Amino acid sequence: AAPGCAIRILQTAERIVPRLIAVASGKGGVGKSTLSTNLAVAMRRAGRAAGLVDADIYGPSQPRLLGVEGVKPEAEGKKLVPTVGAGGVPFLSMGQLAAPGQAIAWRGPMAGQALSQLVDAVWGDVRDIVVDMPPGTGDIQLSMIQKHKPVGAVIVSTPQDLALMDATRAIAFFETAKVPIIGLVENMAGYVCPHCGEVSDPFGIGGAEAAARELGIPFLGRIPLDISIRTASDEGVPPALTDGPIGLAFGQIAGKVAS
Ligand code: ADP
Repeated sequence: AAPGCAIRILQTAERIVPRLIAVASGKGGVGKSTLSTNLAVAMRRAGRAAGLVDADIYGPSQPRLLGVEGVKPEAEGKKLVPTVGAGGVPFLSMGQLAAPGQAIAWRGPMAGQALSQLVDAVWGDVRDIVVDMPPGTGDIQLSMIQKHKPVGAVIVSTPQDLALMDATRAIAFFETAKVPIIGLVENMAGYVCPHCGEVSDPFGIGGAEAAARELGIPFLGRIPLDISIRTASDEGVPPALTDGPIGLAFGQIAGKVAS
């Protein structure tokens, strides 16, 4: 269609620009990647056209978590085409851009370009992209906020005071950049004994909910510390695909994030 032609205008208007939802934490190891995977899976289970970008240059784990390690994305012209992982989640990962087993040591501009390649890909009908952010507040976070403008951020923390202090810094970072905080998720809250089912609290419980109240941000829910989450995740089977209490918990959090 010629420029200005009605068909062309219609085509442009119909191109879906996906909304980016950043999943962030103050520090590593609190379950940010696990939550990102399971949010995307739960959103798809609920019928939403969700996808995922793994922007964690320090430890891109989504290819493993989504059960398709070692698969390189296809390209369409200059754009990448997302790989489809567990639960039908289309995703692109920093790990797919680096050589296997290699540490990613990109400086600011290169990391920013890599992020743009993942975000400005052929996302088709995907409407919501969950972005697994690197921990902390570095170059990728800045370029995400300045260039790609997420509609909101979900912050993950364990219930410990120290993790919560780091989470508070992450919250302040997004708030300064005027990215709305969708809410706080407490992960590894309450250890479920795999033998007797008894629940104990190695990291305490409820710390994140209290912190959310103090900070005036929504509390989205908690995920227990459960060995089955780690084993299933390691095998590339996201627990959000199951119908048990853990699948339900992820589903409820995803419902709040998507609304
Ligand atoms: P992050 O992205 O914050 O670095 P990950 O999602 O990679 O954290 O989680 C770190 C480790 O903890 C992984 O081995 C993961 O399987 C495990 N893990 C995360 N959440 C839970 C949980 N609720 N119960 C048990 N293991 C968990």
